[in-house]
Amino acid sequence: MENLRDLELDDVKKLMISLGEKPFRAEQIYTWLHQKLVGSYEEMSNISKTLREHLAEQYFVSLPEAVQILVSKLDGTRKYIFRMEDGNVIESVWMPYQHGISVCISSQVGCRMGCRFCASTLDGLARNLSSGEMLSQVYQMQKLSGERISNIVIMGSGEPLDNYDNLTRFIRMISDPHGLNISRRNITISTCGIVPNIRRLADENYGVTLALSLHAPNDEVRKTLMPIANKYSLSEVLPAIEYYFEKTGRRVTFEYSVVEGVNDNAGEAEELARLIMGMKHGGRLQCHVNLIPVNPIKERAWKRPDRKKIESFQHILERHGIAATIRREMGADISGACGQLRRSFLEDSEQ
Ligand code: SAH
Repeated sequence: MENLRDLELDDVKKLMISLGEKPFRAEQIYTWLHQKLVGSYEEMSNISKTLREHLAEQYFVSLPEAVQILVSKLDGTRKYIFRMEDGNVIESVWMPYQHGISVCISSQVGCRMGCRFCASTLDGLARNLSSGEMLSQVYQMQKLSGERISNIVIMGSGEPLDNYDNLTRFIRMISDPHGLNISRRNITISTCGIVPNIRRLADENYGVTLALSLHAPNDEVRKTLMPIANKYSLSEVLPAIEYYFEKTGRRVTFEYSVVEGVNDNAGEAEELARLIMGMKHGGRLQCHVNLIPVNPIKERAWKRPDRKKIESFQHILERHGIAATIRREMGADISGACGQLRRSFLEDSEQ
């Protein structure tokens, strides 16, 4: 059984033609799936029963069920566990900000990048999510909240650039005027730094915002945290980031998870500042460092530095003219980072 929501409008048109239907049916069906966000064929009231039955033989249209929803008392953040058609579960987050609703979605079930502090990667990669499954997370959160989503960050479980074709189809479809029509500027892709795909994303000019998980001021420290650093050195990753900026004009964010005793001392802040200022477009206007106090996971011994230490790290960057912020923690009372909710859900259901 395939997901009808994986099909772009042109594919639905081809499908209609192959079924002997008029091409305008494709737009009607696409609107049901991507604007009215239906979860069943029955709701498609202007489509004949025969056609619906025909489609249902090959394609499903259900949205993933929210099997757990946690709501933060502190800031209204909602964390969801969604069960996919094949039984796999993933997590997504809904965050109310002053400037609108932002959601964080997963791009894979699990992850094979192996970052040492990340819960999503502990059991490796189960499978890629399809474009329709990425869309469905957004659609289901919009339906359940009844509020229009304006920003999307792909920072949940998975490495989006390790699932390039589905990711880019997702970007095309979510920004399609026949769908939710979300501006590509309001979509952020976070990557651990898969160099060829950063360049490809730049060349194909999707116009999305890019965030690089940097986490260290040099290759040596980076390798202790991120296995991908063995494959691509900073001398390859940073030029790819410069290239992305040159091609798209989009300001790049560097994410830096601060881990006590690993990457948090003043010398490392100085080194990070030099590294960024040494880039062709380093400095205040073109990039931004987001310091993420590490979320300790029980499987690893990493600790979060105290607030003062992180602030002094931030001030060193700022003294060098680099914009730096400390990530505000959303939903701190309802389980921590990336992949942790899914793990605790799975552990609970195994008992
Ligand atoms: N694969 C993508 C998206 C991952 S999650 C990437 O690597 O960028 C988004 C961010 O959260 C990444 O910067 C990731 O390194 C970071 N992260 C994951 N687990 C974390 C934890 N326990 N504490 C702090 N940051 C974490």
